[in-house]
Amino acid sequence: MLEVANLVKRFPVRGGVFRKPLAWVHAVSDVSFALGQRESLGLVGESGSGKTTIGRCLVRMEEPSSGKIRIEGVDLAALDAKALKPWRRRVQYVFQDPYSALNPRMKVGSIVGEGLSVHTSLSRDEIRGRVERLLVDVGLSEEALGKYPHEFSGGQRQRIAIARALILDPELLVLDEPVSALDVSVQAQILNLLADIREQRSLATILISHNLAVVRQVTDRTAVLYLGRIVEIGPTAGVLDTPRHPYTASLVASVPEAGRPVTPALEGEIPSNITPPPGCAFHPRCPRARQGVCDRSLPELAGDAGHQVACHFPLG
Ligand code: SF4
Repeated sequence: MLEVANLVKRFPVRGGVFRKPLAWVHAVSDVSFALGQRESLGLVGESGSGKTTIGRCLVRMEEPSSGKIRIEGVDLAALDAKALKPWRRRVQYVFQDPYSALNPRMKVGSIVGEGLSVHTSLSRDEIRGRVERLLVDVGLSEEALGKYPHEFSGGQRQRIAIARALILDPELLVLDEPVSALDVSVQAQILNLLADIREQRSLATILISHNLAVVRQVTDRTAVLYLGRIVEIGPTAGVLDTPRHPYTASLVASVPEAGRPVTPALEGEIPSNITPPPGCAFHPRCPRARQGVCDRSLPELAGDAGHQVACHFPLG
């Protein structure tokens, strides 16, 4: 249902009296992937890897610098605001922080029903009826309709945010760290809710997360990002159980798991994406890097369609 081709997003670093671009932050570089109906794709990586920027480009909260974002063959990246409007309802976004994502001055009924007011000609009573049903579907009571966001816990607010994203019956939901701001005890409830919703509504989802356990639980495929590029992509079990890229392997090894010693997290910081290292951007931190190859030549994604890796000397 979704095809992302050669997506690039650069941000200018402005300075001087005329605020001219002095340099560019290469947030997303040449990212391509496809997503089938009902499929769930995880985007993982450290902060600065570009995973959130990709998600924001998909819903045009950020304008792509170049590349294509196709749904049913239509390139959303090329549409103007008017032409984009009917597509907006088909791709919705759930933010990381349920505390700041909801307008504190609006009642829950208005927050959740706003999309219907903007995109449909339903009457107020019809909108109210749909909002009530959806609130119950996400595990809240109908009385939530007349309350303000501050009257709810973090988990309940994330349920409201999910209801807001679902009210227009989207086909694709982009979930940006949907449980990272919640207590551990509540995280499982929200993840179960997301799994149920996906099943019931035949939704495709993109889950942006740094938490590999969450990605393992709710995604079919996983793309690992490093400094704005996909370095490995494949079925989640394959990528996390038998990683082929040294960066993926170090991410997996740094997560505590029963029966396996924890390897310390990677040494060194993720490099600046204003001046990314030449060749493979991971080479300054990679234990397998070979001078003269990894620092000179950018590895392309290769492998079979199921599991691809961008590395000159992959594991396994
Ligand atoms: Fe490491 Fe070289 Fe592979 Fe990059 S290409 S991940 S530096 S072995």
